[in-house]
Amino acid sequence: MLNVAVIGQQATEWIELLRQTRPEDRFESDADWVDPSVVNAAVISIPNAKPLLRFPSLGMIQSLWMGVDAILSDPNLDPDVPLARMVDPGMPASMAETVAAYVLWSHRFGDVYQRNQRAGVWSALDQPLASQRTVTMLGLGELGRTCAQSLLRLGFRVVGWSRSGAPVDGVAVTTDLHTALAAGEIAVNLLPLTAETRGILNASAFSVMPKGSVLINVGRGAHVIDDELLDALDTDHIRHAVLDVFNAEPLAPGHRFWSHDRVTVTPHVASDSMPETCVPVVAENLRRFAAGEPLNNLVDRTRGY
Ligand code: NAP
Repeated sequence: MLNVAVIGQQATEWIELLRQTRPEDRFESDADWVDPSVVNAAVISIPNAKPLLRFPSLGMIQSLWMGVDAILSDPNLDPDVPLARMVDPGMPASMAETVAAYVLWSHRFGDVYQRNQRAGVWSALDQPLASQRTVTMLGLGELGRTCAQSLLRLGFRVVGWSRSGAPVDGVAVTTDLHTALAAGEIAVNLLPLTAETRGILNASAFSVMPKGSVLINVGRGAHVIDDELLDALDTDHIRHAVLDVFNAEPLAPGHRFWSHDRVTVTPHVASDSMPETCVPVVAENLRRFAAGEPLNNLVDRTRGY
C-alpha cells in the first residue's frame, strides 16, 4: 500500500479520482498527513518544491504538469527522488487544435485583416495554399510531433528542430536552429524550458526568420526575450506574435503585449491537463513504483526535460 500526498491545484478532486482508481492506496492532501514520515509518494501540481520538504521518505514524485521547468529550478527539490512528468494522452490533441487554429489564422492573414479592419482598409492579399507554406516546429516531442502531424494533414510543409534530430514522418528535421527558423514563415514553439532553451527566441533568432513571419509561442514565456520580440514587431520584421505563455504570469497589467496591435494574448490555455485522461497515467506510475518497476515519463535531470 502506498501513502500518497496530493499537493496543488484541485487536490480534492484529484484525491477523489485517485481513491476510486487505486483503492488499495491512501491519498490525502499534504496538510492532512498527521505523520508525514509515512508518505512515500507525491502527486503534485505546484511550481516549487517547498511543500515536499515535509515528507522525508518520498520514493517518487509524479507531476501533473507536462512542463517541469519550475520545479526543477527549485534547489529544495531532492535530486535523488525520481520525478515523473505528466504525459497526458488528451493533451497533444488539444494542443494540436490550438496550434492548427492559429497557424491557419496566420496563414490566411487573419492578423493583417484584423488590423486593416480597425484602420478601415480594404486590401486583398495574395493567398498561397497551405502546400506552399512552411511551418517551423521548435520541439518535436509529445506535443510538437502531434501538432506537426496535424499541420501535415492540413497540407502544410513542416520543418522541425529537435536536439537529437530523430526522424518524424513527413517532417524535415534539422538540429540547426537557424536553418529551421529561416525555413518557415510561421514558427511554433513547443520546446521545454531548460538552461539551453531559455531566451532562445531572441533578436538573433528573429533576424533569421523570413520578414513577415508569425511566431506562435505555446512553450514557455521565458523562451522569449520580450524586448527583442517587441523590437522585431515594431520594425515589422515579425508580422504578428500569438503568445499563450509569458515570462511572468499572469501577464502584468500595462505590459506592452496587452495593447500591441501585432500581438494576440491568451492566458496559458493552449492545452490543459484533463483529470479523466491523466488519472490512468498517474495510477500506472503508482503501480510501477509499488511493484519496483521503472517509472514512465521520468524526467532526465541533466537534460532538464
Ligand atoms: P517533450 O516531449 O519533452 O519534447 C521536447 C522536445 O524539445 C523534443 O523534441 C526535444 O528534442 C526538444 N528539445 C529539448 N531541448 C532542446 C534543445 N536544447 N535543442 C533542440 N531541441 C530541444 O515535451 P512536450 O511534452 O512536447 O512539451 C513541450 C513543452 O510544451 C513543455 O515542456 C511545456 O513547457 C509546454 N507546454 C505548454 C502548454 C500550454 O498550455 N501552453 C501545455 C503543455 C505543455 P529531442 O526529441 O531530441 O529530445
